[in-house]
Amino acid sequence: MAFRPTIGLEIHAELRTKTKMFCNSKNDPDETRPNVNVCPICLAHPGTLPVVNREAVRHILRIGTAIGGSIADYTEFDRKSYFYPDIPKGYQISQYEHPLVSGGTLAGVAVTRVHLEEDTARSSHEGGKSVVDFNRAGVPLMELVTEPVIHDAETAGKFARELQLLLRTLGAGNANLEKGEMRIEANISVSRDDRFGTKVEVKNLNSFRSVERAIAFEVARQSACIDAGGTVVQETRGWDETKQETFAQRLKEGSADYRYFPEPDIPKFILSEIPEFSHETLEASLPELPWERRSRYAAAYGLKEADVAYVAAAGDRAAFFDAVAGALGENPDLVRLAANYLITDLGGIYAKQESERWDALDAEAFAKLIRMTAAGDLSSRGAKDTLAILVEQGGDPESIATEHGLIQVNDPEALGKVVETVIAQEPSAVAEYRTGKEAALQYLLGKAMKESRGAGNPQQFRELLAEKLKR
Ligand code: ADP
Ligand code: MG
Repeated sequence: MAFRPTIGLEIHAELRTKTKMFCNSKNDPDETRPNVNVCPICLAHPGTLPVVNREAVRHILRIGTAIGGSIADYTEFDRKSYFYPDIPKGYQISQYEHPLVSGGTLAGVAVTRVHLEEDTARSSHEGGKSVVDFNRAGVPLMELVTEPVIHDAETAGKFARELQLLLRTLGAGNANLEKGEMRIEANISVSRDDRFGTKVEVKNLNSFRSVERAIAFEVARQSACIDAGGTVVQETRGWDETKQETFAQRLKEGSADYRYFPEPDIPKFILSEIPEFSHETLEASLPELPWERRSRYAAAYGLKEADVAYVAAAGDRAAFFDAVAGALGENPDLVRLAANYLITDLGGIYAKQESERWDALDAEAFAKLIRMTAAGDLSSRGAKDTLAILVEQGGDPESIATEHGLIQVNDPEALGKVVETVIAQEPSAVAEYRTGKEAALQYLLGKAMKESRGAGNPQQFRELLAEKLKR
Protein backbone atom coordinates (compact mmCIF):
# COMPACT_ATOMS: atom_id res chain seq x y z
CA MET A 1 0.00 0.00 0.00
CA ALA A 2 1.22 3.45 -0.84
CA PHE A 3 2.20 5.94 1.82
CA ARG A 4 -0.09 8.83 2.60
CA PRO A 5 1.71 12.14 3.14
CA THR A 6 0.66 14.54 5.88
CA ILE A 7 1.81 18.13 5.93
CA GLY A 8 1.46 21.01 8.36
CA LEU A 9 2.87 24.45 7.63
CA GLU A 10 4.46 27.03 9.88
CA ILE A 11 4.73 30.40 8.19
CA HIS A 12 6.43 33.53 9.45
CA ALA A 13 5.82 36.94 7.89
CA GLU A 14 7.28 40.32 8.72
CA LEU A 15 4.54 42.84 9.34
CA ARG A 16 4.40 46.28 7.81
CA THR A 17 4.48 48.82 10.64
CA LYS A 18 6.17 52.18 11.12
CA THR A 19 8.18 51.03 14.10
CA LYS A 20 9.40 47.75 15.56
CA MET A 21 7.47 45.37 17.79
CA PHE A 22 8.58 46.67 21.16
CA CYS A 23 10.41 49.96 20.52
CA ASN A 24 10.50 53.11 18.41
CA SER A 25 13.19 51.98 15.99
CA LYS A 26 12.11 52.17 12.39
CA ASN A 27 10.81 49.00 10.73
CA ASP A 28 12.30 49.37 7.28
CA PRO A 29 12.81 46.12 5.34
CA ASP A 30 14.52 48.04 2.53
CA GLU A 31 17.28 49.57 4.67
CA THR A 32 20.58 48.35 3.27
CA ARG A 33 23.03 50.00 5.69
CA PRO A 34 23.56 47.66 8.66
CA ASN A 35 22.66 48.60 12.24
CA VAL A 36 21.02 51.97 11.63
CA ASN A 37 17.49 51.18 12.81
CA VAL A 38 18.48 50.19 16.31
CA CYS A 39 18.06 51.40 19.89
CA PRO A 40 18.87 50.11 23.38
CA ILE A 41 15.63 48.10 23.43
CA CYS A 42 16.13 46.10 20.22
CA LEU A 43 19.83 45.77 21.03
CA ALA A 44 18.76 44.18 24.33
CA HIS A 45 20.57 46.50 26.70
CA PRO A 46 19.90 45.54 30.32
CA GLY A 47 17.17 47.50 32.06
CA THR A 48 15.19 48.39 28.93
CA LEU A 49 11.49 47.61 28.75
CA PRO A 50 9.36 46.53 25.77
CA VAL A 51 6.15 48.34 24.77
CA VAL A 52 3.74 46.44 22.51
CA ASN A 53 3.13 47.86 19.01
CA ARG A 54 -0.61 48.37 18.58
CA GLU A 55 -0.39 48.39 14.76
CA ALA A 56 1.21 44.92 14.80
CA VAL A 57 -1.50 43.53 17.08
CA ARG A 58 -4.13 45.02 14.79
CA HIS A 59 -2.56 43.33 11.72
CA ILE A 60 -2.75 39.92 13.39
CA LEU A 61 -6.32 40.48 14.51
CA ARG A 62 -7.40 41.53 11.02
CA ILE A 63 -5.72 38.45 9.54
CA GLY A 64 -7.54 36.34 12.16
CA THR A 65 -10.85 38.00 11.36
CA ALA A 66 -10.35 37.51 7.61
CA ILE A 67 -9.79 33.76 8.02
CA GLY A 68 -12.69 33.38 10.47
CA GLY A 69 -10.47 32.55 13.41
CA SER A 70 -11.41 33.38 16.96
CA ILE A 71 -9.81 36.39 18.54
CA ALA A 72 -8.46 35.82 22.03
CA ASP A 73 -10.18 37.54 24.88
CA TYR A 74 -7.17 37.12 27.16
CA THR A 75 -3.74 37.27 25.59
CA GLU A 76 -0.18 37.44 26.83
CA PHE A 77 3.40 37.30 25.57
CA ASP A 78 5.97 34.70 26.55
CA ARG A 79 9.72 34.35 26.58
CA LYS A 80 11.11 31.62 24.37
CA SER A 81 14.65 31.02 25.56
CA TYR A 82 17.48 30.02 23.34
CA PHE A 83 21.03 31.14 22.74
CA TYR A 84 22.12 32.43 19.38
CA PRO A 85 24.02 35.57 18.34
CA ASP A 86 20.99 36.87 16.45
CA ILE A 87 18.88 36.92 19.62
CA PRO A 88 20.85 39.09 22.04
CA LYS A 89 18.39 38.92 24.95
CA GLY A 90 18.87 35.16 25.10
CA TYR A 91 15.16 34.79 24.47
CA GLN A 92 12.62 35.82 21.87
CA ILE A 93 9.39 37.46 22.93
CA SER A 94 6.66 35.31 21.42
CA GLN A 95 3.29 33.88 22.38
CA TYR A 96 2.75 30.37 23.66
CA GLU A 97 -0.38 29.46 25.57
CA HIS A 98 -2.51 32.43 24.59
CA PRO A 99 -2.05 33.36 20.93
CA LEU A 100 -3.95 36.34 19.54
CA VAL A 101 -5.86 34.14 17.09
CA SER A 102 -6.98 30.52 17.28
CA GLY A 103 -8.62 28.51 14.50
CA GLY A 104 -9.84 29.74 11.14
CA THR A 105 -9.55 28.41 7.61
CA LEU A 106 -7.64 29.56 4.56
CA ALA A 107 -7.73 27.94 1.12
CA GLY A 108 -9.61 25.02 2.66
CA VAL A 109 -6.87 24.36 5.24
CA ALA A 110 -7.59 24.54 8.98
CA VAL A 111 -5.40 27.02 10.80
CA THR A 112 -4.32 26.20 14.35
CA ARG A 113 -3.19 29.63 15.49
CA VAL A 114 -1.77 32.99 14.48
CA HIS A 115 0.45 34.74 16.95
CA LEU A 116 2.78 37.69 17.22
CA GLU A 117 6.47 37.66 17.98
CA GLU A 118 9.64 39.57 17.19
CA ASP A 119 12.04 38.85 14.37
CA THR A 120 15.68 38.08 15.10
CA ALA A 121 18.73 39.96 13.88
CA ARG A 122 20.30 38.88 10.62
CA SER A 123 23.65 37.14 10.91
CA SER A 124 25.94 36.43 8.02
CA HIS A 125 29.18 34.62 7.71
CA GLU A 126 31.66 35.95 5.20
CA GLY A 127 35.39 35.46 4.78
CA GLY A 128 35.86 33.68 8.10
CA LYS A 129 33.99 36.42 9.96
CA SER A 130 30.50 36.42 11.39
CA VAL A 131 28.62 39.71 11.46
CA VAL A 132 25.22 40.62 12.84
CA ASP A 133 22.85 43.27 11.50
CA PHE A 134 20.27 44.35 14.08
CA ASN A 135 18.00 46.29 11.70
CA ARG A 136 15.71 43.29 11.62
CA ALA A 137 15.93 42.56 15.35
CA GLY A 138 12.55 43.23 16.92
CA VAL A 139 10.62 43.65 13.67
CA PRO A 140 7.02 42.46 14.23
CA LEU A 141 6.63 38.92 12.99
CA MET A 142 3.47 36.91 12.42
CA GLU A 143 3.62 33.18 12.96
CA LEU A 144 0.82 31.13 11.52
CA VAL A 145 0.55 27.39 12.14
CA THR A 146 -1.75 25.04 10.25
CA GLU A 147 -3.23 21.79 11.43
CA PRO A 148 -1.64 18.66 9.94
CA VAL A 149 -4.47 18.36 7.42
CA ILE A 150 -2.68 18.84 4.11
CA HIS A 151 -2.02 15.69 2.12
CA ASP A 152 -0.37 16.91 -1.06
CA ALA A 153 2.26 19.39 -2.16
CA GLU A 154 -0.10 21.31 -4.41
CA THR A 155 -2.49 22.17 -1.56
CA ALA A 156 0.46 23.32 0.55
CA GLY A 157 1.62 25.60 -2.28
CA LYS A 158 -1.88 26.96 -2.79
CA PHE A 159 -2.23 27.73 0.90
CA ALA A 160 1.07 29.61 1.01
CA ARG A 161 0.22 31.63 -2.12
CA GLU A 162 -3.20 32.51 -0.74
CA LEU A 163 -1.65 33.64 2.55
CA GLN A 164 0.77 35.88 0.67
CA LEU A 165 -2.11 37.39 -1.28
CA LEU A 166 -4.12 37.89 1.92
CA LEU A 167 -1.23 39.65 3.70
CA ARG A 168 -0.78 41.96 0.74
CA THR A 169 -4.51 42.60 0.38
CA LEU A 170 -4.70 43.55 4.05
CA GLY A 171 -1.59 45.74 3.81
CA ALA A 172 -0.13 43.60 6.60
CA GLY A 173 3.15 42.91 4.83
CA ASN A 174 5.01 42.62 1.54
CA ALA A 175 5.44 38.90 2.13
CA ASN A 176 8.19 38.61 -0.45
CA LEU A 177 9.71 35.12 -0.18
CA GLU A 178 12.95 35.97 -1.94
CA LYS A 179 13.59 38.78 0.55
CA GLY A 180 12.77 36.58 3.52
CA GLU A 181 9.74 38.71 4.38
CA MET A 182 7.72 35.52 4.36
CA ARG A 183 9.35 32.26 5.47
CA ILE A 184 7.75 28.87 5.09
CA GLU A 185 8.54 25.74 7.04
CA ALA A 186 6.90 22.48 6.07
CA ASN A 187 6.37 19.62 8.52
CA ILE A 188 6.11 16.41 6.60
CA SER A 189 5.38 12.82 7.54
CA VAL A 190 4.16 9.70 5.79
CA SER A 191 2.18 6.75 7.05
CA ARG A 192 0.34 3.68 5.83
CA ASP A 193 -2.59 3.97 8.24
CA ASP A 194 -4.58 6.58 10.17
CA ARG A 195 -1.82 7.15 12.69
CA PHE A 196 0.63 9.94 12.02
CA GLY A 197 4.18 9.08 11.10
CA THR A 198 7.23 10.86 12.51
CA LYS A 199 7.45 14.36 11.10
CA VAL A 200 10.43 16.14 9.64
CA GLU A 201 10.60 19.92 9.51
CA VAL A 202 12.04 21.48 6.35
CA LYS A 203 13.42 25.02 6.44
CA ASN A 204 14.89 27.56 3.99
CA LEU A 205 12.17 27.26 1.41
CA ASN A 206 12.65 30.43 -0.60
CA SER A 207 9.94 30.03 -3.19
CA PHE A 208 6.53 28.43 -3.54
CA ARG A 209 8.02 26.02 -6.02
CA SER A 210 10.67 24.90 -3.52
CA VAL A 211 7.90 24.28 -0.95
CA GLU A 212 6.21 21.94 -3.41
CA ARG A 213 9.44 20.26 -4.46
CA ALA A 214 10.73 19.80 -0.91
CA ILE A 215 7.47 18.11 0.06
CA ALA A 216 7.66 15.77 -2.93
CA PHE A 217 11.30 15.01 -2.12
CA GLU A 218 10.60 14.29 1.58
CA VAL A 219 7.61 12.09 0.82
CA ALA A 220 9.78 10.01 -1.51
CA ARG A 221 12.74 9.93 0.90
CA GLN A 222 10.67 8.95 3.96
CA SER A 223 8.70 6.33 2.03
CA ALA A 224 11.90 4.76 0.71
CA CYS A 225 13.42 4.83 4.19
CA ILE A 226 10.47 2.94 5.71
CA ASP A 227 10.27 0.55 2.76
CA ALA A 228 13.91 -0.32 3.36
CA GLY A 229 13.07 -1.20 6.98
CA GLY A 230 14.38 2.03 8.47
CA THR A 231 12.70 4.59 10.71
CA VAL A 232 12.29 8.29 10.01
CA VAL A 233 14.21 10.47 12.45
CA GLN A 234 12.44 13.54 13.85
CA GLU A 235 14.74 16.34 12.77
CA THR A 236 15.05 19.69 11.08
CA ARG A 237 16.23 19.55 7.49
CA GLY A 238 17.30 22.25 5.08
CA TRP A 239 16.43 22.56 1.41
CA ASP A 240 19.31 22.59 -1.05
CA GLU A 241 18.10 24.61 -4.00
CA THR A 242 20.95 23.54 -6.28
CA LYS A 243 20.67 19.84 -5.59
CA GLN A 244 16.90 20.01 -5.22
CA GLU A 245 17.03 17.87 -2.10
CA THR A 246 16.72 18.15 1.66
CA PHE A 247 19.63 17.57 4.04
CA ALA A 248 19.81 16.90 7.79
CA GLN A 249 20.52 20.01 9.88
CA ARG A 250 19.83 19.22 13.51
CA LEU A 251 17.69 17.12 15.77
CA LYS A 252 14.46 18.85 16.66
CA GLU A 253 14.25 20.62 20.03
CA GLY A 254 11.20 19.82 22.11
CA SER A 255 9.24 22.83 23.36
CA ALA A 256 10.52 22.01 26.88
CA ASP A 257 13.98 23.10 25.73
CA TYR A 258 12.71 26.63 25.18
CA ARG A 259 11.65 27.12 28.82
CA TYR A 260 8.64 29.20 27.80
CA PHE A 261 7.27 31.44 30.55
CA PRO A 262 5.06 34.55 30.57
CA GLU A 263 6.98 37.75 29.77
CA PRO A 264 6.92 39.69 33.06
CA ASP A 265 7.70 43.06 31.42
CA ILE A 266 4.55 43.19 29.28
CA PRO A 267 1.07 43.57 30.79
CA LYS A 268 -1.60 40.97 30.02
CA PHE A 269 -4.35 42.11 27.67
CA ILE A 270 -8.10 41.68 27.76
CA LEU A 271 -8.76 42.43 24.11
CA SER A 272 -12.53 42.78 24.54
CA GLU A 273 -11.82 45.88 26.59
CA ILE A 274 -10.16 47.57 23.62
CA PRO A 275 -12.87 49.03 21.33
CA GLU A 276 -10.76 49.15 18.16
CA PHE A 277 -10.20 45.41 18.49
CA SER A 278 -13.89 44.51 18.68
CA HIS A 279 -15.10 41.99 16.12
CA GLU A 280 -17.37 44.57 14.45
CA THR A 281 -14.61 47.16 14.10
CA LEU A 282 -12.13 44.64 12.74
CA GLU A 283 -14.68 43.16 10.35
CA ALA A 284 -15.65 46.61 9.06
CA SER A 285 -11.98 47.43 8.44
CA LEU A 286 -11.46 44.57 5.99
CA PRO A 287 -11.18 45.29 2.26
CA GLU A 288 -12.60 42.92 -0.34
CA LEU A 289 -10.77 39.65 0.39
CA PRO A 290 -9.13 37.56 -2.36
CA TRP A 291 -11.77 34.83 -2.35
CA GLU A 292 -14.59 37.43 -2.29
CA ARG A 293 -13.04 39.12 -5.28
CA ARG A 294 -12.76 35.83 -7.14
CA SER A 295 -16.40 34.93 -6.58
CA ARG A 296 -17.43 38.41 -7.68
CA TYR A 297 -15.51 38.02 -10.95
CA ALA A 298 -16.97 34.59 -11.59
CA ALA A 299 -20.54 35.67 -10.81
CA ALA A 300 -20.54 39.08 -12.48
CA TYR A 301 -18.67 38.22 -15.69
CA GLY A 302 -18.83 34.44 -16.00
CA LEU A 303 -15.04 34.18 -16.09
CA LYS A 304 -13.43 30.73 -15.97
CA GLU A 305 -11.81 29.66 -12.70
CA ALA A 306 -8.26 29.78 -14.04
CA ASP A 307 -8.84 33.24 -15.53
CA VAL A 308 -10.34 34.52 -12.29
CA ALA A 309 -7.36 33.17 -10.37
CA TYR A 310 -4.92 34.99 -12.67
CA VAL A 311 -6.73 38.30 -12.67
CA ALA A 312 -7.22 38.31 -8.88
CA ALA A 313 -3.74 37.04 -8.00
CA ALA A 314 -2.25 40.48 -7.40
CA GLY A 315 -3.75 43.68 -6.03
CA ASP A 316 -2.57 46.04 -8.77
CA ARG A 317 -3.62 43.60 -11.48
CA ALA A 318 -7.10 43.28 -9.98
CA ALA A 319 -7.37 47.05 -9.53
CA PHE A 320 -6.54 47.53 -13.22
CA PHE A 321 -9.08 44.89 -14.20
CA ASP A 322 -11.74 46.55 -12.03
CA ALA A 323 -11.05 49.90 -13.69
CA VAL A 324 -11.31 48.31 -17.15
CA ALA A 325 -14.57 46.57 -16.22
CA GLY A 326 -15.92 49.90 -15.00
CA ALA A 327 -14.90 51.62 -18.23
CA LEU A 328 -16.71 48.87 -20.16
CA GLY A 329 -19.90 49.54 -18.22
CA GLU A 330 -19.58 46.12 -16.56
CA ASN A 331 -20.84 44.49 -19.76
CA PRO A 332 -20.01 40.80 -19.19
CA ASP A 333 -19.23 40.02 -22.85
CA LEU A 334 -16.86 42.97 -23.14
CA VAL A 335 -15.31 42.28 -19.73
CA ARG A 336 -14.63 38.65 -20.71
CA LEU A 337 -13.01 39.82 -23.93
CA ALA A 338 -10.95 42.28 -21.88
CA ALA A 339 -9.91 39.46 -19.53
CA ASN A 340 -8.68 37.43 -22.51
CA TYR A 341 -6.51 40.27 -23.78
CA LEU A 342 -5.37 41.10 -20.26
CA ILE A 343 -4.29 37.54 -19.53
CA THR A 344 -2.89 36.44 -22.87
CA ASP A 345 -1.51 39.58 -24.44
CA LEU A 346 -0.86 42.03 -21.66
CA GLY A 347 0.21 39.21 -19.33
CA GLY A 348 2.49 37.93 -22.10
CA ILE A 349 4.09 41.33 -22.64
CA TYR A 350 4.69 41.80 -18.91
CA ALA A 351 6.03 38.28 -18.53
CA LYS A 352 8.56 39.00 -21.27
CA GLN A 353 9.53 42.28 -19.59
CA GLU A 354 9.69 40.45 -16.25
CA SER A 355 7.82 43.29 -14.60
CA GLU A 356 4.14 44.03 -14.37
CA ARG A 357 3.25 47.69 -14.67
CA TRP A 358 -0.51 47.72 -14.40
CA ASP A 359 -0.61 51.21 -12.96
CA ALA A 360 1.37 52.56 -15.94
CA LEU A 361 -1.37 51.59 -18.39
CA ASP A 362 -4.50 53.70 -18.85
CA ALA A 363 -7.55 51.51 -18.15
CA GLU A 364 -9.76 53.76 -20.33
CA ALA A 365 -7.43 53.33 -23.31
CA PHE A 366 -7.31 49.56 -22.85
CA ALA A 367 -11.12 49.49 -22.58
CA LYS A 368 -11.38 51.46 -25.83
CA LEU A 369 -9.15 48.93 -27.57
CA ILE A 370 -11.47 46.17 -26.34
CA ARG A 371 -14.53 48.03 -27.66
CA MET A 372 -12.85 48.52 -31.05
CA THR A 373 -12.06 44.82 -31.18
CA ALA A 374 -15.62 43.85 -30.27
CA ALA A 375 -16.92 46.19 -33.00
CA GLY A 376 -14.63 44.65 -35.63
CA ASP A 377 -12.56 47.81 -36.08
CA LEU A 378 -9.56 45.81 -34.97
CA SER A 379 -8.78 42.24 -35.93
CA SER A 380 -7.22 40.14 -33.20
CA ARG A 381 -3.85 40.63 -34.94
CA GLY A 382 -4.48 44.39 -35.12
CA ALA A 383 -5.50 44.47 -31.47
CA LYS A 384 -2.29 42.71 -30.42
CA ASP A 385 -0.12 45.10 -32.41
CA THR A 386 -2.00 48.16 -31.18
CA LEU A 387 -1.70 46.92 -27.60
CA ALA A 388 2.04 46.42 -27.87
CA ILE A 389 2.43 50.04 -28.99
CA LEU A 390 -0.03 51.25 -26.34
CA VAL A 391 1.98 49.57 -23.58
CA GLU A 392 5.21 51.05 -24.85
CA GLN A 393 4.10 54.60 -25.63
CA GLY A 394 0.66 55.16 -24.16
CA GLY A 395 -1.84 57.26 -26.11
CA ASP A 396 -5.14 56.62 -27.83
CA PRO A 397 -5.63 53.16 -29.37
CA GLU A 398 -7.67 54.55 -32.26
CA SER A 399 -4.95 57.03 -33.26
CA ILE A 400 -2.29 54.35 -32.87
CA ALA A 401 -4.23 51.87 -35.03
CA THR A 402 -4.95 54.53 -37.67
CA GLU A 403 -1.36 55.71 -37.76
CA HIS A 404 -0.01 52.18 -38.19
CA GLY A 405 -2.69 51.10 -40.67
CA LEU A 406 -4.13 48.60 -38.20
CA ILE A 407 -7.78 49.59 -38.46
CA GLN A 408 -9.61 46.65 -39.94
CA VAL A 409 -11.30 47.29 -43.29
CA ASN A 410 -14.86 45.96 -43.30
CA ASP A 411 -16.17 47.89 -46.29
CA PRO A 412 -17.43 45.27 -48.83
CA GLU A 413 -16.68 47.49 -51.81
CA ALA A 414 -13.06 48.10 -50.83
CA LEU A 415 -12.57 44.44 -49.98
CA GLY A 416 -14.18 43.40 -53.28
CA LYS A 417 -11.65 45.46 -55.23
CA VAL A 418 -8.79 43.74 -53.41
CA VAL A 419 -10.29 40.33 -54.17
CA GLU A 420 -10.61 41.17 -57.86
CA THR A 421 -6.99 42.29 -58.03
CA VAL A 422 -5.85 39.04 -56.42
CA ILE A 423 -7.98 36.92 -58.78
CA ALA A 424 -6.50 38.75 -61.75
CA GLN A 425 -2.95 38.25 -60.45
CA GLU A 426 -3.27 34.58 -59.55
CA PRO A 427 -4.83 32.73 -62.52
CA SER A 428 -3.20 29.40 -61.72
CA ALA A 429 -4.38 29.35 -58.07
CA VAL A 430 -7.83 30.32 -59.32
CA ALA A 431 -7.78 27.45 -61.79
CA GLU A 432 -6.63 25.02 -59.11
CA TYR A 433 -9.44 26.09 -56.82
CA ARG A 434 -11.96 25.70 -59.61
CA THR A 435 -10.79 22.13 -60.21
CA GLY A 436 -11.52 21.34 -56.53
CA LYS A 437 -8.33 22.17 -54.65
CA GLU A 438 -9.60 23.74 -51.41
CA ALA A 439 -6.10 24.70 -50.30
CA ALA A 440 -5.92 27.23 -53.11
CA LEU A 441 -8.55 29.34 -51.37
CA GLN A 442 -6.33 29.66 -48.30
CA TYR A 443 -3.50 30.75 -50.57
CA LEU A 444 -5.67 33.39 -52.24
CA LEU A 445 -6.88 34.61 -48.84
CA GLY A 446 -3.26 35.04 -47.80
CA LYS A 447 -2.63 37.10 -50.94
CA ALA A 448 -5.71 39.26 -50.20
CA MET A 449 -4.53 39.87 -46.63
CA LYS A 450 -1.12 40.84 -47.95
CA GLU A 451 -2.63 43.09 -50.64
CA SER A 452 -4.63 44.90 -47.90
CA ARG A 453 -1.50 45.10 -45.70
CA GLY A 454 -3.16 42.96 -43.09
CA ALA A 455 -6.07 45.36 -42.66
CA GLY A 456 -8.80 43.46 -44.51
CA ASN A 457 -11.40 41.53 -42.57
CA PRO A 458 -10.33 37.90 -43.23
CA GLN A 459 -13.81 36.48 -42.71
CA GLN A 460 -15.23 38.80 -45.36
CA PHE A 461 -12.34 38.13 -47.73
CA ARG A 462 -13.05 34.42 -47.49
CA GLU A 463 -16.72 34.92 -48.27
CA LEU A 464 -16.01 37.26 -51.19
CA LEU A 465 -13.44 34.88 -52.69
CA ALA A 466 -15.77 31.91 -52.46
CA GLU A 467 -18.56 33.95 -53.97
CA LYS A 468 -16.53 35.26 -56.92
CA LEU A 469 -14.93 31.90 -57.65
CA LYS A 470 -18.17 29.94 -57.58
CA ARG A 471 -17.76 26.77 -59.57
P1 ADP B 1 5.95 20.64 17.67
O1 ADP B 1 5.49 20.59 19.07
O2 ADP B 1 6.94 19.62 17.29
O3 ADP B 1 6.29 22.03 17.21
P2 ADP B 1 3.27 20.87 16.73
O4 ADP B 1 2.22 19.92 17.15
O5 ADP B 1 3.31 22.21 17.37
O6 ADP B 1 4.67 20.17 16.80
O7 ADP B 1 3.12 21.06 15.17
C1 ADP B 1 3.99 21.86 14.45
C2 ADP B 1 3.60 21.75 13.00
O8 ADP B 1 3.76 20.42 12.55
C3 ADP B 1 2.16 22.09 12.69
O9 ADP B 1 2.10 22.79 11.47
C4 ADP B 1 1.48 20.77 12.56
O10 ADP B 1 0.39 20.82 11.68
C5 ADP B 1 2.57 19.92 11.98
N1 ADP B 1 2.48 18.51 12.32
C6 ADP B 1 2.25 17.97 13.54
N2 ADP B 1 2.29 16.63 13.45
C7 ADP B 1 2.55 16.31 12.16
C8 ADP B 1 2.75 15.08 11.44
N3 ADP B 1 2.70 13.91 12.03
N4 ADP B 1 3.01 15.18 10.12
C9 ADP B 1 3.12 16.35 9.51
N5 ADP B 1 2.95 17.52 10.12
C10 ADP B 1 2.69 17.51 11.44
MG1 MG C 1 5.04 23.85 17.89
